[in-house]
This record gives sequence, structure tokens and C-alpha cells, in this order.
Amino acid sequence: MNEYDTELVRSILKNDGYSEIGEPDSADVILLNTCSVRENAHNKVYGRLQRLQKMKDKRPVVIGVLGCMAQNLKMDLLESSVHVDITAGPDSYRRLPKLIRDARNGGGQMTDIDLSEFETYDDIYPERKDGINAWIAIMRGCDNFCTFCVVPYTRGRERSRKVENVRDECVKLVSEGYSQVTLLGQNVNSYSDNGREFARLMNVVADVPGIKRVRFTSPHPKDFPDDLLDLIADHSRVCKHIHLPLQAGSDRILNMMRRKHTAAEYLALVERVRSKIPDVALTTDIILGFPTETREEFEQTVEMIKMVEYDSAFIFNYSERKGTVAKRRWSDDVSPEEKKYRITLLNDIQKEISLKKNRSHIGQTAEILVEAPSKKDENYWYGRTDGNKMVVFARTDQEIGAYIDVRITDATPNTLKGEAIRV
Ligand code: SF4
Repeated sequence: MNEYDTELVRSILKNDGYSEIGEPDSADVILLNTCSVRENAHNKVYGRLQRLQKMKDKRPVVIGVLGCMAQNLKMDLLESSVHVDITAGPDSYRRLPKLIRDARNGGGQMTDIDLSEFETYDDIYPERKDGINAWIAIMRGCDNFCTFCVVPYTRGRERSRKVENVRDECVKLVSEGYSQVTLLGQNVNSYSDNGREFARLMNVVADVPGIKRVRFTSPHPKDFPDDLLDLIADHSRVCKHIHLPLQAGSDRILNMMRRKHTAAEYLALVERVRSKIPDVALTTDIILGFPTETREEFEQTVEMIKMVEYDSAFIFNYSERKGTVAKRRWSDDVSPEEKKYRITLLNDIQKEISLKKNRSHIGQTAEILVEAPSKKDENYWYGRTDGNKMVVFARTDQEIGAYIDVRITDATPNTLKGEAIRV
């Protein structure tokens, strides 16, 4: 979502006469687009700001913090030892040109963090960097208020873009050479454009001539719609990959997190998904060490991971986020040593499952969208399967962006290896 927002900001500033340069050393304006979801991302921004302050001590440069951190930590940022000229939240990007002008004209520290009930940036076509996948935010904000999550406070209430507008963006993307799009929303199940819901939008996008792959993230397990499952099962251009955040395996912790479903309901959904889409790739998010989570409750998460057998999982330790219900109500009382034990164990277990799942593809042929040369060896390329698995294979004379058939010959927990099938 942040990458998409950066593309929006790039477009807004380009229209105002700015151009982007590769390195900050000679920039007049430096904007950091931030995320507050995890502590690590947050700490990185503070580190980056400290380094930029050294530059600011030597020459005039406007420094701005955009996005969720700006929204959530405005006072901390304004009072920090680093001189931040602009703090602008996720709904304030249209006003950036004026904020920058005012800051450059010596107007002092500028803050614009009003959240909007309506802003969807519907009329702004993002300025994307070359790539294979185009992100498209179809909605903004979230009304779910999971107790650990800062998003409803930093990105405001849910609002959806119009179906026609998203379709038009896809048509333009095809004319620029994109064939894969990923529809983004904090909870795509809540998408609604005058009663037209997410499955309808996906269908419209998948039917745009030239679009070959449609992905989406993320749905919420509490209200996953059946018509979306049917569409994923039946439409050849909708990828058979579902990212289904679990967060925890214990009903008590799920309840404290306000996830609004039980472990049994989640498992029933997984069963429904797999009965309709047997070859689906499933991935998830897990938070370990939520306040008061006992070792037994952690073991319930381990059991869930073993039962579902995800293709991969993003596993994180709980960290308190300012402004959330969890921070207000409960102390972060699972010790760092215990969190370390849990994350190491769960990552090891998931690694074995991922390896087993990846090995099951050996001998199969998969259609790969070629993305780029491999970082380790440029004689190799990598690309992704429909299920979003990365495949590395010896370079062919096809172009980046092509779809080619690759026979899978080997697998690690994170990657498949293969050979292009020459026709
Ligand atoms: Fe955060 Fe929950 Fe909304 Fe996801 S659904 S963005 S975790 S509040």
C-alpha cells in the first residue's frame, strides 16, 4: 500500500513541476513515506531522519515525513531532535505541493494530517516505476479495529473506489505493457461500490483485454465471500493464491485481538477454500507473543500451522503500537527470550512445511511470468507462478514480462528451481 502511495505522491509532485532524482545528496526536498505497522519499520525511519539531519545542518533541504507515521506520531516528530519540515498523513497528499512551497518559503513546520471520509485519489494515475506488477489500491482505510493494529487510526475509515475507475486504470496499464495487477485493500472483503462488491470488481478487472493475472491482498477470514472463491476457482486469469491472515491459533487471543472468528471457523474456511480450489496456494500472517499469550496458546498456533500447511507465512513478534487498544489495555508481557524461542521454533516448522510443499511441485510444469535477472547470477532469471512462488531458471531468449513454461527440477523452502521448456 505504501509503494502505491509513493506512486501517487510521485504523480502529484510531477504534475507540480518536480522531478525525482536517484540520490538524496542534491535533492531540494526529501520525503520519507512511512509505515507504522511494525516497530522495525518505524525505527528505520528514525535512523534515516538522524542521517538526513546531518545533511540539513550543511545546506537547506526540506524534509517531510508522509504516511502512517506522520499521522500517528505527529507530535513526537515535530518535537524530535531532527528538524522535520512537513508531516503529511495518507489523506493529505494532494496538498503536498502547497506544503512544500510554504516550507521552502520559510513558513515553519507544516502539518497536515486530517483524515478524510471520501479521499480515494480516484482521479490520480500513479507514476509507476518500470515493473512487472502494478499495484492498484481499490479502497482506503479500515473499519475493523483489530486491537493490535494502528491502520484504522492512521488511514481512517473504509472507502472504496468506483469499479469503472479501477477498470479504466487497468486499461491504461495494459497500454503501458503491464499484464499483472494486484488489487490492494486493508480488507478487500469490505469493498463496495454502490452494492457492487469485491468479486464483481475482480471479475471486471480480470476481463480487461490484455490482463493475464489478477492478484489481491488481503481478505479477512471473518467474512470471506463465497462468490470470490468461485471466481478464483473458475476464472483463468485470477491467480490461485490467497493470503489469509491467521494471526493466532488460540480463541482467547483471537478474541483479545478482536479478529471476530474462532480457530475452528478459520479451519472451516480453509476447508471450504480447498474444496473449491484444490491447487490453491495459501499464505498467512502470524503475530507471536501477544499480551498474556501463554506457551500453551502459542502451541495452538503451532498446531494450526501444522494443520493448514501454508505455502509460506510472515511470522512476527508482537510489538506495541502507539494509539492501539492493545497498548492501552495490556502490557507487552511476553519476555523477549520467550518471543525469540517461539519465533525460532515456528519459523523452523514453517520452513519444513514450505520445503515439503515446494518439493511437491518437482516434475510439474508451471507457467512463469518472467520478472528480472536473478540477483545471485545474471545468467539466471526469476519469475513467479500463478500461486506466487518464485522460480529461478537459466536465462532464455524470451523477454522480461513474458510468460514461459518451466519444468520444476528442484526446491528450497523459499524458491523453486527449473528449466525453461523450449518450444
Ligand atoms: Fe488492521 Fe485488522 Fe484492519 Fe487488517 S483488518 S488493517 S489488521 S484493523
